[in-house]
Amino acid sequence: MAEIRFKNVQHAYPPPKGQKPVYALKEVNQIWEDGGAYALLGPSGCGKTTLLNTISGLLTPSEGEIYFDDQEVTHLPTSDRRIAQVFQFPVVYDTMTVFDNLAFPLRNRGMDETAVKQRVAQIAEMLDLTANLNKRASGLTADGKQKISLGRGLVRSDVNAILFDEPLTVIDPHLKWQLRSKLKELHQQTGVTMIYVTHDQVEALTFADKVVVMYDGAVVQVGTPVELFNRPKHKFVGYFIGSPGMNFLPCKLDRGQPVFHNNLLNTSYPVGNDLSGRTEVGVRPEFVEFTDDGIPVVIDKIEDLGRYQVVTVKHESEVIKMVVDEDQQIPTDNPKIQFNPDMTRIYCDDWLVGGGQNE
Ligand code: ADP
Ligand code: MG
Repeated sequence: MAEIRFKNVQHAYPPPKGQKPVYALKEVNQIWEDGGAYALLGPSGCGKTTLLNTISGLLTPSEGEIYFDDQEVTHLPTSDRRIAQVFQFPVVYDTMTVFDNLAFPLRNRGMDETAVKQRVAQIAEMLDLTANLNKRASGLTADGKQKISLGRGLVRSDVNAILFDEPLTVIDPHLKWQLRSKLKELHQQTGVTMIYVTHDQVEALTFADKVVVMYDGAVVQVGTPVELFNRPKHKFVGYFIGSPGMNFLPCKLDRGQPVFHNNLLNTSYPVGNDLSGRTEVGVRPEFVEFTDDGIPVVIDKIEDLGRYQVVTVKHESEVIKMVVDEDQQIPTDNPKIQFNPDMTRIYCDDWLVGGGQNE
């Protein structure tokens, strides 16, 4: 096993004739610690698959270097990297039995047949494939086939990392939940580095110790689920994590404190006044509350979501979302709101600034 290190990794696919290359990866500097359980989270097209493929060697990045511990692997072929990769859609040998599919990566590396049998039995048990071991893979459902793909990714124990590229896309929701828990369990048992790609925040937050958030070819934040929730370093993280996402409101600054449409707000993380750029205040809907003395608002919409309500209010033309307890009365007479100063942060040109960055 190894620590995986990216040094200034960039990648541009060959552009159509006459066009300039577009970078699918822009300067990625990232360390994947040995034994970590990572989720790589970001919207479709942000570069997740491209990044995974540079780790496994399916793709050589156009610039930068990749290291496994002290060894540079940037140009090593896939077969020399000891990386297992599970793709979004099943990759199985249809004419082989389930057993032979699972055994393939082991036999390929010359493991003796007794050990192969033992290991395949173990993996099949874990994935509920034992009853199907002697069936041909072609007879299985899409779910079943993807379980074989997962099994083939998990069967070797001598790998540097296992990469999962949205592997549960074709799996039905209930089984999805089960398999995700199994992967997490397996990570805890084996300690193999796992990188799990998804565009689903719930999936990312339940699988990973650390979530790597990508946006437009760049890693914008790496953190625990709590860090991403409490202290989004980039606006995108604020939007993408949480439901509803973080509120961002235009603001000016007065002695380091944000002023939103002539309302002086308080933040526990003031900034210097010399910022040049577009400044905004960011606060999650969970940290906005009704108060007797605050910013006057108009109530726009109340959505009852069972355990809580999402209230949309407006001040001037700015929309602010609030998460309010299910049993709380929504004021009807001159409603006013305030923000929790400990959870109110300042952003400049989309990036977090001020004392809130490193606490
Ligand atoms: P994700 O996995 O996050 O959805 P990808 O890594 O697949 O994103 O793609 C990142 C960007 O690179 C996208 O804009 C995509 O269109 C482009 N891209 C991906 N694969 C290729 C390819 N083989 N040739 C050209 N462009 C590609
Ligand atoms: Mg992808």
